[in-house]
Amino acid sequence: MPKSNFFTRHLRDIKESYFVHMCHALGFARDSLIAFCCFFIHSILPFIFLNAGSSIARRLLDRINFRTKLFNLSIANEKHVAIVGFGLGGLVTFFNLIKNHQENSGKLVVRIFEKSPLFLKGNAYSTKNPNHLLNVVANRMGVVEEDQGHFFKWLCVKGYNYQENDFVPRQIFGIYLEDLLQTALRIAEKKNVSYEFRIKEISEITDKKNYFWIDGDLHHSCVLAIGPQLKDSKKSFWRIDLESYLADEEIHILGCGLTAIDAVISLRDLKYSGKIFLHSRRGILSQPHKLFSNQEKVESPLSPEDSDLPLSQIFRKFINACKKSSDWRLAFDAFRPRTQKFWMVLDLEKKKRFMRHCFRLWNVHRHRCPESQFKVIEGMMKSGKLSIQKGRVSKEKMIDCTGFDYGFESDLISNLLKNNLVKFDDLRAGLLPQRENIFFTAGLNFGSLFEITAAPDIAPHAKKIADKINKMDPSSFLK
Ligand SMILES: Cc1cc2nc3c(=O)[nH]c(=O)nc-3n(C[C@H](O)[C@H](O)[C@H](O)COP(=O)(O)OP(=O)(O)OC[C@H]3O[C@@H](n4cnc5c(N)ncnc54)[C@H](O)[C@@H]3O)c2cc1C
Repeated sequence: MPKSNFFTRHLRDIKESYFVHMCHALGFARDSLIAFCCFFIHSILPFIFLNAGSSIARRLLDRINFRTKLFNLSIANEKHVAIVGFGLGGLVTFFNLIKNHQENSGKLVVRIFEKSPLFLKGNAYSTKNPNHLLNVVANRMGVVEEDQGHFFKWLCVKGYNYQENDFVPRQIFGIYLEDLLQTALRIAEKKNVSYEFRIKEISEITDKKNYFWIDGDLHHSCVLAIGPQLKDSKKSFWRIDLESYLADEEIHILGCGLTAIDAVISLRDLKYSGKIFLHSRRGILSQPHKLFSNQEKVESPLSPEDSDLPLSQIFRKFINACKKSSDWRLAFDAFRPRTQKFWMVLDLEKKKRFMRHCFRLWNVHRHRCPESQFKVIEGMMKSGKLSIQKGRVSKEKMIDCTGFDYGFESDLISNLLKNNLVKFDDLRAGLLPQRENIFFTAGLNFGSLFEITAAPDIAPHAKKIADKINKMDPSSFLK
């Protein structure tokens, strides 16, 4: 770009040529003139141009507002970041953005858009039931400082009486998240980071000159942290009024996973006296965790190179490793650090077959429940209060505990697809960015990363997003 002088400085700031700028300015002049004419004629003949003048003026104001913001952003040494959705993924991104922000790199402005009063905690951590437990031990639930032990240390500092390997009530983890937010806000004050919370559902994000226009403001980058969508939100355990079922003689629950276990525990706590049925295609309940005092060293059953093998051999290798270890859980746990890499190199056809035939089975073994919860369930089955039924079922009144849809299409997702900012991955189980400055946290990456739905995976991924944004140069954005 040539050296600017008094005449060209404004053009350089908004990165427009003389003639492009002239077109914009003349466009404003034309519209102002048309609006003027409409108002003028309307003043003499009040029965015509009832709304024309005001709607042109309104559009004009919107454009002026946009141009002013664009101008201000291009001359300010500031980086504006939008975080849409503020559950675990949004919070961890926010925390790391602020914590690792270098003050000499310009001012950071973060806008957070969250639709729900369940701010921060999502379905998972907003439960009020103390018997809804984390399914990961305390010492692995830390989500900041690159320290999985951070949550356990926090429990000790706060005077909670838990051990490293305990499964803590999820509501306490919710308090931990609130505390992290307060810490992040204190760091923001110290570093002079601006932040703003808007309680609002975002359904539209548009690309304007490579910035993101969200709720009347421009942003250099946008983090979508909206989490996945419930499969059947109307009948979902997280949405229904459970008490309204208590008078029924039988309660039917769809699903046998962790949410179904939460539902059964809630019904027990509400002293439900009828019979509970869990329905699922395979009829296998989420398996229990087991604590190993002397953990034997188990090799990962598969390495990324094995992804080239036929699927049947991959299964055989995995199952043999499970049989060879003193407990199958050890093989699952040994594979966990490699699962993402393995999935990323697995070809699409194999992924599809896995999702069709094995995903449910994988889920009940990989996403395990605390042993104490499993014992409650076993006890209820023995006493005849609970039974598991295999196969498809269609009942009018069903509580849906089937979990999440990762390839969902909400108003926001449809809008992002329409604006070419994202596309579905090949499995249609998550999103792929179509710009380098749009990011997704957690389950929105399910199709491409697979092992990305629990805190130990969500947190490091969200930190990587924050680090990338912190490294971005805001002046390089404008097209
Ligand atoms: C019941 C349950 C128990 C779990 N237990 C554990 C556990 O023990 N250990 C573990 O590691 N993981 C657990 N998980 C998995 C994971 O930790 C949580 O699901 C976690 O909340 C995921 O975080 P998230 O940010 O992706 O989504 P969420 O926490 O759901 O946050 C998404 C946020 O985005 C908002 N939002 C959505 N759309 C919009 C929009 N258009 N505009 C504005 N805001 C929007 C929502 O209101 C919500 O607040 C559990 C999950 C569930 C469901």
